[in-house]
Amino acid sequence: MIPVTRCYLPPLADYLSQLKPVWESGQITNNGVICRQLRELLKAHFGLPHLELVANGTLALQLAIKALGLKGEIITTPYSYVATTHAILWEGCDPVFVDIDEKNFGIDPGLIEAAITERTAAILATHVYGYPCDVKAIQAIAEKYRLRVIYDAAHAFGVKFMGQSLLDHGDCSALSFHATKLFHTAEGGAIVCRDETIARRISLMKKFGHLGEDEYLDIGINAKMSELHAAMGLAVWPQVGEIIAARREVSSWYDEGLAGSELRRPGEIAGLEYNYAYYPVVFPDHGSMMRARQALMERDIFPRRYFSPALNTLPFLKPERQRPCPVAESIAARVLSLPLFPGLDKNTVEGICGLLGARQKTVPFNGPFVGI
Ligand SMILES: *Cc1c(COP(=O)(O)O)cnc(C)c1O
Repeated sequence: MIPVTRCYLPPLADYLSQLKPVWESGQITNNGVICRQLRELLKAHFGLPHLELVANGTLALQLAIKALGLKGEIITTPYSYVATTHAILWEGCDPVFVDIDEKNFGIDPGLIEAAITERTAAILATHVYGYPCDVKAIQAIAEKYRLRVIYDAAHAFGVKFMGQSLLDHGDCSALSFHATKLFHTAEGGAIVCRDETIARRISLMKKFGHLGEDEYLDIGINAKMSELHAAMGLAVWPQVGEIIAARREVSSWYDEGLAGSELRRPGEIAGLEYNYAYYPVVFPDHGSMMRARQALMERDIFPRRYFSPALNTLPFLKPERQRPCPVAESIAARVLSLPLFPGLDKNTVEGICGLLGARQKTVPFNGPFVGI
């Protein structure tokens, strides 16, 4: 079976050796020696002053919303994993969906201003597949209307944009270290933020607002990362460079094998140092995507419809929140993310490309995407 992704497992001996200090200290959670080590390592690597480890990426988003004190409406993207919308709803805010730009699948800054109301508190956008949002335009709008900006950076680990970590934008960025992500701690995540007061608030909130022996300074939750999870992070960490290199190579095989097909990919983004987190392809129409998916599944190959459905169409939203987002809905109906993980062999990739190429009719495609 070939899945869309396969979790990277470090050699067991590496994980066990990372656990030694945990056993020696006798402390398996509550910001022990391993969590502190992982946090320092990530901060130094990204060159960021404030980073808090948390239990997962969804809580990272929720804590960012909570710590920034957001209330009312949050302008957000319809094209992401469902957790982006869930975090907004779970924190009692209203998602206002703004359609995406075809060039990077990110929220279209040109449509944001028209969606701003008196109740708008923030913009929550996703660097989907690791492609940068238009961070400059979003920042300009946020400054003009005094809005907060949160980035869902669950796919953005290791991405550089204009020579700088992509995480260094907005008020907060939320990372996921889930097993399926490029760098992982089995379950886990982090929040990166610029402001020290917000960072301190997050570090309190993630541990019940509890400081010292018996001081409770703020409303809190339990969003702590355990030492066992952080140890997995330390064991995976030395391999991240190779993981990205392997993904780049598999992606280049797809690029070659799909050249000339009817499939479309996001355009080149100037200044992007990419992490090869996903390999999405957009078909000419929904039918051709579903037929290709079926053909692959019959051969035990399981691409995923990342990301579908468009989040503005989720059935549990209030009807007035389900505003149409034609670009996101169209792409969600036609997209497949192809299998991509270190160890995927060239023969399999060529087989997938052959199947996809062979099943594409030469229907003229007038869409916005560049050819592969
Ligand atoms: C994976 C993911 C999340 C959720 O992260 P968890 O660690 O699984 O809670 C949030 N947003 C996006 C875009 C994701 O892909």
